[in-house]
Amino acid sequence: MDPNVLHNIGYGMYIVSSNKGDLLNGQIANTVFQITSEPVTVAISINKKNLTHEYIESSKRFSISILAQETPLSFMGKFGFKSGRVEDKFKDTKFIKLGSGCPVVLENALCYLEAKVINQFDCGTHTLFLGEMTDSKILNTGKPMTYDYYHQVKRGTTPETAPTFLKAEVAAEKKQTSQKYICTVCNYVYDPEIGDSDGGIQPGTRFEDIPDSWVCPVCGAKKTEFIKEG
Ligand code: FE
Repeated sequence: MDPNVLHNIGYGMYIVSSNKGDLLNGQIANTVFQITSEPVTVAISINKKNLTHEYIESSKRFSISILAQETPLSFMGKFGFKSGRVEDKFKDTKFIKLGSGCPVVLENALCYLEAKVINQFDCGTHTLFLGEMTDSKILNTGKPMTYDYYHQVKRGTTPETAPTFLKAEVAAEKKQTSQKYICTVCNYVYDPEIGDSDGGIQPGTRFEDIPDSWVCPVCGAKKTEFIKEG
């Protein structure tokens, strides 16, 4: 068996939100699938350790916000690398509460849907929730973020094939500036050839030249929490 086969399965990037009474939480999820058309049902796979899992089991509702390709890494990090047990992710996030009480993240979303849980399957570490769609709305036009785009483009692991990231002058300095640094908290890799457009760091900026106030665009860790890669 070759586990690399699994890397070829395509996914999207979503925020799944739910509530437990007045408590709200949401998290990044990539496993969202439409299962049937009549009625419309969708399935999501959620880790049992996540707070969102507890909330979905409580309210039997969840919403799915389909994220736009332009969604900043910091926003993905807020919902993907922080726990709702430590931080209120909805503070400073544009969202609405539907009639059921279920929250929906509107920020960076192209559209959303809400579903009522009609069945669930114990999958060991995760639960597969099957929901019937109860609400949905288009918010913006644009391309949805895919899992592949997030890793290959937003995290910049293929700079050679991304001409917008590799300007001629950057290429000339490539040798001196190519040392990558990795975040010890979330494994984000800072690649000097790409910089960090969300954080205002130009392509070609050596890690050493980044201001000390800069933080990891994914998880918010300090610059001192990065180590040399390789
Ligand atoms: Fe990080």
